[in-house]
Amino acid sequence: MLTVEGLRTRYGRIEVLHGIDFEVTSGEIVTVVGANGAGKTTLLKCLSGIQPVTDGRIIFRGENFAAVPAHKRLRRGLAQSPEGRQIFTNLSVEENLRLGAFLFTDDRVETDMEDAFALFPILREKRNLSAGGLSGGQQQMLAIARALMGRPSCLLLDEPSMGLAPLLVAQIFDVVKSLKARDVTVLLVEQNAFGALKIADRGYVMETGRITIQGAADELIADPRIREAYLGL
Ligand code: ATP
Repeated sequence: MLTVEGLRTRYGRIEVLHGIDFEVTSGEIVTVVGANGAGKTTLLKCLSGIQPVTDGRIIFRGENFAAVPAHKRLRRGLAQSPEGRQIFTNLSVEENLRLGAFLFTDDRVETDMEDAFALFPILREKRNLSAGGLSGGQQQMLAIARALMGRPSCLLLDEPSMGLAPLLVAQIFDVVKSLKARDVTVLLVEQNAFGALKIADRGYVMETGRITIQGAADELIADPRIREAYLGL
């Protein structure tokens, strides 16, 4: 579904991604884990088109994304739930969800909203309330639900567990895992390596702009280098 080859990007004169290669196959949950500052968010920005690529290729569903501007990538099936959620705090929960469906005018929008409420029942309870009044965990749920309203075939998730209490982290990861049954392929970027690897099929470890280790998620959890550096075990 997604193939990235030799991806490089820079902020000004400083190169921060030094040739990233990875792929995500349809139906998979793939995670990119790594410390703060490794370049994970930058990678997602390149995929969604808001950070220019200086070298390399992004192929999404057979199409070279070099020619596809950011605002057309959702139409191609690639949606992102950004770091820090970036929901519209002055709008209601329902309005935020409807914004996620801005591409569509058909009746399926209502069904999609019901699906979102089924995934996150608390959002149904709060649908008419201002999104700014939601807790951090609920805002994260809203950000994911809003991205799903765009009917993506592939969802990019940037640190959905960030800043959340353990119980909520578990709940969010459970929902991400359940997206498989909905035919949504997931690329999950996380500092919470253990949580992410537990629900992922495969994983990549990113260190200062490079992929250093990759493999099946269960192999990575068992890898002594990862256990020491990322899992605190
Ligand atoms: P985080 O967990 O903080 O999101 P990350 O792995 O996503 O970390 P990035 O945010 O992609 O890392 O940052 C990668 C590198 O690029 C870091 O050294 C960071 O300081 C730098 N960087 C990020 N954004 C910018 C920017 N807009 N201008 C200049 N440098 C930046």
